[in-house]
Amino acid sequence: MSADEQIEGMLKEAANGRAITRAEARMLLSLPDNSLEAALLRSTANIVSRRRFGNRGLLLGQIGVDMEPCDGDCAFCFFAKSHTSIQASVLPTEEVIARCERFAAGGAQGVFLMTMHRFGFEWFRDLCVTLRRSIPAQLEILANVGDVTASQLGELRDVGVAGAYHVCRLREGVDSCMPAAQRRATIERIIESGMAWYNLCEPIGPEHTAEELAEQIWLGVELPCRQHGAMQRFPVPGSPLYAHGQISLARLSQIVAVVALATAHKKETTSIAVNVSNIVGLFSGANAFFPEAGEPLAEDRPQDHVAGPEGFTTALWRQSNEITTADCRTMLAAAGFSHLMDTKGGPTTVLHLNS
Ligand code: SF4
Repeated sequence: MSADEQIEGMLKEAANGRAITRAEARMLLSLPDNSLEAALLRSTANIVSRRRFGNRGLLLGQIGVDMEPCDGDCAFCFFAKSHTSIQASVLPTEEVIARCERFAAGGAQGVFLMTMHRFGFEWFRDLCVTLRRSIPAQLEILANVGDVTASQLGELRDVGVAGAYHVCRLREGVDSCMPAAQRRATIERIIESGMAWYNLCEPIGPEHTAEELAEQIWLGVELPCRQHGAMQRFPVPGSPLYAHGQISLARLSQIVAVVALATAHKKETTSIAVNVSNIVGLFSGANAFFPEAGEPLAEDRPQDHVAGPEGFTTALWRQSNEITTADCRTMLAAAGFSHLMDTKGGPTTVLHLNS
């Protein structure tokens, strides 16, 4: 049997519900991103995910609540202390609440509160207490913070934090100052705490091999994650990894498709995310976006969506306008998704083009 026939046979079985193995994932990740086989892979993942998730999409907002030159010092990051020029700042609580309200108005079901690797735990916990009392009840609070202890996770859970994003990143300990074992231990503590674990394959660059990608993806296949997916790395000028550039949307979608097929048997994984939000990903097995801003107000002008001096989102990395909940709904509707959903997969609102 030729390699092409082998891949076609494998993808037919995947379309019929068989999750791919790690060896198969490696083979699919090795395909040239604009090959016929890679197109078949993306199409197969599209069919599998539409059926699996009932043609529903999920929006989870993101708010960077504090920033400073970060001790994590990751070789790809905008905030790494060795090459950043940002000044320390904290987003005022009233502004966090206002952003949450606009995310909820746009159909988001949760919001990631992002900090640096080191952060003030008590300040963050108290912020979550205030938010839980102040923001719409359906908007889940999700933590995206540094490595934390089991008792800190218990405190966050007890004040209403529903889940936590934590990743053992590609080349962790090589391109970052954190050992992979430390990141993995935090992930295990999140799961043990009873909070939902949010995961991604990230931060993907052109230099990452099929073997490295498959290995990193597989932690989220072996351990129970609420969400898996893929995120590309944006090249930060002045950072050590800048020269590598960035992957294409075709490559990002190929990796999303592999994640979707590798987790097809996992009931606890209720969505597959792609970041940056893009329509190619929605035809490749992804059904979740991370909008950077909530519903625009009628009086907003486009330049109002550029991140201000405090707080941040991934738009800061792109040096671009923030992608809003309205932008995300438009892409989901254009891709033929029928509903938005909650974090467990239940339908919320019907999607219409131009809604
Ligand atoms: S990726 Fe996170 S830990 Fe690493 S430098 Fe950036 S903020 Fe710090």
